Amino acid sequence: MIKRFYELQEKIIGYYPEANIGLLKKAYAVSTDAHLNQRRASDEPYIIHPLAVAGILADMKLDEISIAAGLLHDVIEDSSYTIEDINRQFGKEIADIVWGVTKISKISDINVEEAQAETLKKMIIAMTKDIRVILIKLADRLHNVRTLAPLDPDKRLKIARETVEIYAPIAYRLGIGKIKDELEDISFMYLHPAEYEKIKKEVADKNEWALAQLEKMKKELVKLLAEYHIAADIQFRIKRPISIYRKTQRQNIELDQVYDLLALRVITDTVPRCYLIVSGVQQRWPYIPSRWRDFISNPKSNFYQSIHTTIITPEAKFEIQVRTQEMHKVAEEGIAAHWRYKEGLSFLEKDVRLQWFREMIEHHKSSPDPKEFLSLVKKDLTPQEIYVFTPKGKVINLKAGSTPLDFAYAIHSEIGDHCRSAIVNEKMVPLKTRLNSGDVVEILTAKNAKPSSDWLKVASTTRARKKILAYLQKEENARHLERGLRIWAKIQREYQKKFQQRLDADELRQRIAGLGYPDNESFFRDIGSGKRTVDKQLLKALYPDVSAVDIKPPQKTLRKPVSIQRLISVEGNQDIDFSFAKCCLPIKGDVIVGYITQNRGLVIHHQDCLNIKGAMPSRLKEVSWNPVANYLYLVHYNLIVSDRPGMLKAITEVTAAYESNIKKIEIIHLSQSLAKVRLSFEVREVSQLHEITQRMRNLNGVYSLIRKRK
Ligand code: MN
Repeated sequence: MIKRFYELQEKIIGYYPEANIGLLKKAYAVSTDAHLNQRRASDEPYIIHPLAVAGILADMKLDEISIAAGLLHDVIEDSSYTIEDINRQFGKEIADIVWGVTKISKISDINVEEAQAETLKKMIIAMTKDIRVILIKLADRLHNVRTLAPLDPDKRLKIARETVEIYAPIAYRLGIGKIKDELEDISFMYLHPAEYEKIKKEVADKNEWALAQLEKMKKELVKLLAEYHIAADIQFRIKRPISIYRKTQRQNIELDQVYDLLALRVITDTVPRCYLIVSGVQQRWPYIPSRWRDFISNPKSNFYQSIHTTIITPEAKFEIQVRTQEMHKVAEEGIAAHWRYKEGLSFLEKDVRLQWFREMIEHHKSSPDPKEFLSLVKKDLTPQEIYVFTPKGKVINLKAGSTPLDFAYAIHSEIGDHCRSAIVNEKMVPLKTRLNSGDVVEILTAKNAKPSSDWLKVASTTRARKKILAYLQKEENARHLERGLRIWAKIQREYQKKFQQRLDADELRQRIAGLGYPDNESFFRDIGSGKRTVDKQLLKALYPDVSAVDIKPPQKTLRKPVSIQRLISVEGNQDIDFSFAKCCLPIKGDVIVGYITQNRGLVIHHQDCLNIKGAMPSRLKEVSWNPVANYLYLVHYNLIVSDRPGMLKAITEVTAAYESNIKKIEIIHLSQSLAKVRLSFEVREVSQLHEITQRMRNLNGVYSLIRKRK
């Protein structure tokens, strides 16, 4: 393991003589400074860690940008250096990578439930814009597991589990077999110490025998290759303890039954020779047909290629793996080797690589053919899904573009229906905020919070939209029913008054049934919504014995009045009593402040209201508008206008265009040509008001427009 900078430097120059050593020195210097007084759990100076990580990256023969970022990978998290500092000193490319690694490290701080490992893996991928981030994270993890010993047992277990469930599979997907194996081997030791010891002992008992067998078989293979005049390199191995453990567990077998305990690897130069070798082996020794696998014509999704065949001799079973040198590099180094062969050291620069990688992760189960992956490379880059967290670390999978409202409904429809506001990464944000992968989202609910039609603009997932629509429908039905019942009460009153007619419950039900309704409620709903007009024909059907009465249905209310209580949050709390100040009549969107009065509780003023200028700061409270609560605020204006025909019509057309109700309109003639209009109308918020007044001001003949606050 690398302990000094010059060792790192030598290693890099070994495969990349033109490397920018100045850049690496600078990164090393900043890292040393940032971690100056920090120590590892082993009590060694912290700098050994970034140095070792950079060394692992150099083992992978990565470019200088990766290695510099590797040296800097813990700087943001552990010191007063900011990402802007890194950006200024090292440029955006390195800063982006360091930031990416920092973000992933933050995720691992959250305690993730076991079942979510798959999602977390995907999330790490979705968050990563540069594959070098993942390679650094793997190197970081590798050094951390290599140095697990001094940590306390709980922490060791957590890291080991996370490594096996998340990082080793990512390394596997990237085809970095070497790192994947080491990550698994070390973690296994900590996760299952007893089994590890047992298998290690069993293997050790067989070790002498196994090595002798392998040596013997190697000689046989050398002889065979000589007969075929093929040059090849032969390596062998005894199966790793964790692989033995998995196999014996999965297939419920003993060590003796493991077919590939002993394996030999034959590495040659061309694909035809691989096939030749395999057929030679299979002619010489009996082989097990079901254990003959051709990963050369059918590569694994991580590009692994080899032919495996298991042969049996009187003494032992051997797995023979045959591959080319290039395949061998890909098997050991994965993605790095793969791209290096094609394009040299610039192999990691292009975004398509990452796309390829993402697709590979997403589709590895359904389509194991690498050619297919490469064709997917051309597809759109934007991820379709995001992964966010609950405060407890549960991962929620949403489609890209989702908001906290979608999140709330994804958790539970009750939480969605009572969603009041959201905290994302510890900051209060509007409900319409778009979420990003990795965000930690908390939803604040209130008993009296409920969906409004505005929510439909904010929600983008089908689930949330459906639930909101269902809620609004239910609410509308209730509203129609209520109005229908009022209309019915009026009808009843009139007939009672005029003809002393009163239908009892049975009669009513019969007559409503006669109109084709299954129950009274649907009838009341229909007259409430206006679907069924209250006309003479209908009244005749209800009261056949008397002539019809002229019934005017009660005015339709546009919106159900809301309790004003939930319009305002006071320091995040919505259950506080308040009233709006009469002096400045604030409306939604105004900058407001709360003032605690002696007798009338909390009164909400416009921030510029003169009445609160000079108020004692201790009496002022920070308050804010609840962005989703709706209410109609009455505003009053005085207009000075030209006294001409059509003037009033023009004014009312403006309010009508914004669906604002005029509550009062009064005209005072000032002179032959001038009039004053006192106008009161309802608005939903200040931006709507601005638009209305702007339009009015622009009307031909409007000279002035002044809001009256009293
Ligand atoms: Mn680290």
